[in-house]
This record gives sequence, C-alpha cells and structure tokens, in this order.
Amino acid sequence: MKKMAMTSSELDRCSHWRENPAQLHQYVASHGSCDIVVSEGRVHFKSQQLLQSAEGDPLEKCFLGVWRDRAIFLRRADSVSEKDYSVRTLRAMLSTEEQALAAYASGVAHWHDTHRFCGRCGGKNDHLALGHQLKCSACGQLQFPRMDPAVIMTVTDGDWILLGRSPGWPAGVYSTLAGFVEIGESLEQAVAREVKEETGVVVDNIRPVASQPWPFPSSIMLGYQATATRGELSIDHNELEDARWFHKDELASFGDWSEEGDGLKLPRLDSIARILIQRWVEDGL
Ligand SMILES: [Zn+2]
Repeated sequence: MKKMAMTSSELDRCSHWRENPAQLHQYVASHGSCDIVVSEGRVHFKSQQLLQSAEGDPLEKCFLGVWRDRAIFLRRADSVSEKDYSVRTLRAMLSTEEQALAAYASGVAHWHDTHRFCGRCGGKNDHLALGHQLKCSACGQLQFPRMDPAVIMTVTDGDWILLGRSPGWPAGVYSTLAGFVEIGESLEQAVAREVKEETGVVVDNIRPVASQPWPFPSSIMLGYQATATRGELSIDHNELEDARWFHKDELASFGDWSEEGDGLKLPRLDSIARILIQRWVEDGL
C-alpha cells in the first residue's frame, strides 16, 4: 500500500529537549543542524533544496526534531522570493519524508502567525518550549498548537460503497465524504451527522481506521469506516455536486485523480481518502 502523505516515519521530535535546551545545544554542536525557512506561508526552496544551511541562534528558532542525524529548525524569513512555494505546490518536488517536514514547518509557522496576540486580553504572545507553546506576556494565558479535527469516512453496505464529489474537483473524481468535528460532539457522532447531512444515509457500526495530518492550513483527518443502515440518497447540493453507490467491482475500472479523460477517478494514491477506500476493497475493513 502507498505510504500516507504528510507523515514522517524518520522524524524524532525529541520533545523532551523543549524543556532541556542544553541537551539540544549539545546535539547541534556534535551533529549539526539545518533550517526549513518559511515566510508568509511559503517554504524556501533555494537550490532545489528544502533543508537550508542553519543561521542564527538555535534557541531563538523553533526546534522541529531530529531527522537523519541532524537537528531541524523552523526559521522565519521576512520576505518571499520567487523560489518559495506553498506546501501544496512543493509536494510534486519533494519525497514523502520531505513533504512531511515541509508540512510540519509551515503548519507551525501558520500557528505562530495566527496567534501572535492573546485571544483573551490582546497582549503579545511569547514563544516557550522552543516554539511549541505560546504564553501571553500580559495575562499569562498559555496556548498550545491548534489543529482542526475533521472526520473522513467510507460508508459501505455489503459490496457497495458510497462516494461523493464536491464542486471544483477535477472532472470524474469521486471520494469519501468528510467534514469538521463540532464542539461537544464525539468523533463517531460527527461521522454519523456528516453522512446524514450530506447524503441522507444513516450509518452505524462506526470504527476508526487511520489518520492523516492535513496542514491546509491546520486540519487533522480522522479516518473511519461506517456501515449504512438506511441507504436511500437525499443529497445536499450545497455541499456535494453528486453522491452515488458504487459496487466494489466497478472501482477497479476507476482511473487515478491526475489522469486526463472523462472516466471516473479516485483520489490521489497517498491521500487518506484513497487509503480508506483501498483498505475496504482489499481487506473488507
Ligand atoms: Zn492575555
């Protein structure tokens, strides 16, 4: 199975160093370090490289972790150059591991940029824990990294799967349903509500399958599988252009999302949507 995008299996976040920067200093002195440089939501890609030479005091930057025996930092730059790209654009030029690092760095930068001031009193926030906490300089309120949880799910009924398409997707692409979790709602309740609201289908037997960070700009996708108990469709056309039940055998004839042509297509191979669909096809999960 294709490796899931936006996650690194080689990064060690070394989070204990956030409270013990002397150890980080020692590691940088013996192993060296690199920076991922982000400005205005764009990642520097100077000389076709994601990792740039380290500059400045390590303890003034945000420490991301150790990757391939080097300490990796997020460094902020003031101006954007022609060789800077959004993570979405950079994906095509990077390995899966590097995509994950770029997404992590730009996600943290986005959190810093959108939480410069305290939401309670308006005071200026200072960085703590090597950039992984923010503390208001006036009232002391602590802020931790902010993510927006979203559920994404396969809905099945025997050998049939429910897929939908949103307006604006490439022609022919059908994928799993998804939506944001609301306050006061369990993840399972969010799955059932989103499916019912968007398609009218009622589900039960809701089980977690996989998850994927989705830093556009700050979501985490929580993947579920659910079984339909009432499958009649009543599509909310404000949310979906279309939704249909497809037989498992039909999916084999679907193309890939990036292909040209008029046929039906599935989402990209490294997306959690595709991985959920594949797991159902292969394992009957
Ligand atoms: Zn405050």
